[in-house]
Amino acid sequence: MRTQELFNYFLKTKKITTDTRNISKDCIFFALKGANFNGNQFAEMAIRNGALAAIVDEKEYENTSKNIFYVNDSLEALQDLARAYRNYLKIPFIGLTGSNGKTTTKELISSVLKEKYKVHFTFGNLNNHIGVPLTILSIPEGTEMGVIEMGANHKKEIELLCTIAQPNYGYITNFGKAHLEGFGGFEGVIRGKSELYDYLRNHEKIAFVNLDDPIQIEKTKDLEIISFGIEEGKYIISPIESNSDYIAVKFDETKIQTNLTGSYNFSNISCAIAIGKHFELSTEEIKRGLENYFPTNNRSQIIEREGYKIIMDAYNANPSSMEASLKNFSTFTGTKTVILGDMFELGETSDNEHLNIAKIALSYGFENIYLLGINFQKTDIQSDRIKKFENRNDFEDYVKSNFTYTDNILIKGSHGMRLDLLESIL
Ligand code: ATP
Ligand code: MG
Repeated sequence: MRTQELFNYFLKTKKITTDTRNISKDCIFFALKGANFNGNQFAEMAIRNGALAAIVDEKEYENTSKNIFYVNDSLEALQDLARAYRNYLKIPFIGLTGSNGKTTTKELISSVLKEKYKVHFTFGNLNNHIGVPLTILSIPEGTEMGVIEMGANHKKEIELLCTIAQPNYGYITNFGKAHLEGFGGFEGVIRGKSELYDYLRNHEKIAFVNLDDPIQIEKTKDLEIISFGIEEGKYIISPIESNSDYIAVKFDETKIQTNLTGSYNFSNISCAIAIGKHFELSTEEIKRGLENYFPTNNRSQIIEREGYKIIMDAYNANPSSMEASLKNFSTFTGTKTVILGDMFELGETSDNEHLNIAKIALSYGFENIYLLGINFQKTDIQSDRIKKFENRNDFEDYVKSNFTYTDNILIKGSHGMRLDLLESIL
């Protein structure tokens, strides 16, 4: 089946699924393959459950009389369809990538732009080679702007996602030590994320750039940019010092009080302000959009408890975000406990990075440091303030009998450590 035919089908239904547990009436089911499953085997079932059509990439499953159509590669067909729909939509897209802060920034930008436009943005973290097409294909007609998160853990991925989303504007949140394994080191991360800049350069599109980050300035030298920063840039945004755990900023003589903690969120907020201004929102609208946004999903959430608070940052972790989180936590008033879980996907630098984080935690003088996971357990660091546990379960057993509460508790670790589950026992 060719893209044009598929596109005509799509326009009839506008419903796509790749998930056999989630077949809605009249959807188009794309049979994808993974390490342990073959979606082709579910094409018949999808049709029986009400799908309008199914797209398979193994000839034996084709059955045109049942609307089961064969393509060379179902994933590529899905991506081509998204590309076609993206062109059909003719609205500006803002594409975001970076090592940390993509989802937060995407949500902040969308929360701002929603004050004036009909905005569609990536749901949750659907940011990869399947998620980006699905995001685009779920954009309702009448939408005025798209905000698309693009994630990558190896080179050429952002390049591909850019050919699908074709962003008119781009922003890279930062270059950090995330997915070092797949990118082959930090230089690889910079090159990989910069594929967004390459796309913008080659298509004469525009980048938003945080001038407080020297690497970003360097990487966008020959690009058309819209800049922002604390002291320099088209839009000047400055942090307001306060005793509050939440970030407040000043822009255009206006104080904007956000519900986000963590100094690392400052640039995420600044970017949303710059984009809001560029798209002609009033400062009041931007302020409203930002102040109405509350982080979810264990991203830098503060949970207030009787006598103490938990800073739940267990959504994910890598050396850069871990360091930023510890630094921010060190500014909290009162006694402090950190509960840190292993960071994944670090390749050969893993041992060093875990040791480095343990040292940083120790240097801040936190009263209690709990290190969870086999990587942290291996670290050659001892102190009467440090306790190591092989996994979360062992730590949970410990908490039930021994835990001493402090005024503040920071919880951070890679998603797979599921430290979010500690909320119910602390
Ligand atoms: P993923 O790769 O999982 O999609 P992401 O890039 O979307 O992650 P977020 O989910 O927004 O990132 O944030 C994850 C964590 O990264 C936050 O909880 C925070 O600890 C940290 N973080 C957020 N923004 C920044 C930033 N600008 N610089 C450094 N760390 C950040
Ligand atoms: Mg994300």
